[in-house]
Amino acid sequence: MKESPAHYDLAVVGSGIVGLFAMYWARSQGAKVIIFDRYHPPHRLGSSHGLSRAIERTFNEVDERYKPWVRQTWELWETINLAFPAVGPLQRTGALIMIPEGDPRASTFQSWAQELRTPVTLLGTGGLRSHFPYFSIPRHTVGLWEKDAALIRVEPLIEAMVAWGESHGVAQHYGEEVQELAPEESGVIVMTPQGRYQASRVIVTPGPWLPQFNLSLPIRKKRQLMIWVPRHSLNIPTAVSVDLGEHPRLAFYPESEVTVKIVADVSLEDSSAEVAPASGVNVEDIVKVNDAVRQFWRGIDQAPLVRHEPCTATYTPDLHFYVGIWPKDPHIIVGGGFSGRGFKYAPLAGRWLVDLAFRGESADSPSLFRLDRYS
Ligand SMILES: Cc1cc2nc3c(=O)[nH]c(=O)nc-3n(C[C@H](O)[C@H](O)[C@H](O)COP(=O)(O)OP(=O)(O)OC[C@H]3O[C@@H](n4cnc5c(N)ncnc54)[C@H](O)[C@@H]3O)c2cc1C
Repeated sequence: MKESPAHYDLAVVGSGIVGLFAMYWARSQGAKVIIFDRYHPPHRLGSSHGLSRAIERTFNEVDERYKPWVRQTWELWETINLAFPAVGPLQRTGALIMIPEGDPRASTFQSWAQELRTPVTLLGTGGLRSHFPYFSIPRHTVGLWEKDAALIRVEPLIEAMVAWGESHGVAQHYGEEVQELAPEESGVIVMTPQGRYQASRVIVTPGPWLPQFNLSLPIRKKRQLMIWVPRHSLNIPTAVSVDLGEHPRLAFYPESEVTVKIVADVSLEDSSAEVAPASGVNVEDIVKVNDAVRQFWRGIDQAPLVRHEPCTATYTPDLHFYVGIWPKDPHIIVGGGFSGRGFKYAPLAGRWLVDLAFRGESADSPSLFRLDRYS
């Protein structure tokens, strides 16, 4: 007799930060949850890795509609910070962004700061040069410093969430790739090389592997390179992003007592079915990024390189996320395209996904994230 597959209220595909938050909220509400990942979290092949992701209140936003969500996601982060005290996921380093003088973003950031009641200080070129004497800061550059911004300790948090899942009875199937989602009347059969699992709802959060699921959701991938140098060679007091228009964007994160991570954009690629998102570092990328960093921080030539790694960020064409019920099957809920803001919004996105899975709607109705907007 053929054995019937195990049944779950919810299957989550992908244990990056968004999938883990979906798992966390769903299990906290009492759902019977199974989560899959093709690798063992935390791993370096998706987007949720390393020791630092910056979360700010005012920077890097697409438009005004995100203001209430910034507030909500920060409230959730404060809760998570208390829920995982051993990790202390929020490191309140502050964050500074350098942009050209006259860039309209300066006044946007300041008005957001006022409305969200978070202190943001404007620094002119002279002020920046005296705070950061080791950087070659071009004339007519201004900086905005958000004092209460934080870095998230990514991998310790992921390990803690996996351990939480373990102790709360979540079935965690890591090293198990989901190859097919087969809709049936009352749910979905999740198929992997190891087995078949039945779930009333499936939340799909595969990061850069989204094209693999043939959901007709266009994405673009940005290839980035990360370089680590010893903290003693660049002792920055705060996270620093440099977005001066002429050169690739750079970000410097004081991620531990020992190292500073530098992230630089390498290229923007079109969506493709290419499955391995971040495989190997190529020499051209290293040369390109070293040149870009050198123009801003000459110390790169003297600093011992701790290591470098490639990584991939996933964007939608309009930069708004995908969070919604798949139009062709109400049992499949998708979260993707979280771009450079995915960590900031992960607790809230996870909650939206769970609301959509169990209630068919989310209190905020984030309609700009609908999955059918390109069809
Ligand atoms: C270098 C870098 C810096 C960033 N900086 C910031 C920042 O400062 N602030 C910020 O807010 N955001 C930042 N981001 C963005 C943020 O990290 C991402 O948006 C976020 O991690 C996305 O999480 P995710 O869960 O959607 O995807 P991922 O973390 O990529 O997770 C997807 C998971 O799905 C799994 N998977 C895929 N296909 C399958 C399958 N078929 N079966 C089973 N499992 C599967 C993968 O193995 C992976 O573990 C940065 C991103 C990068 C790359």
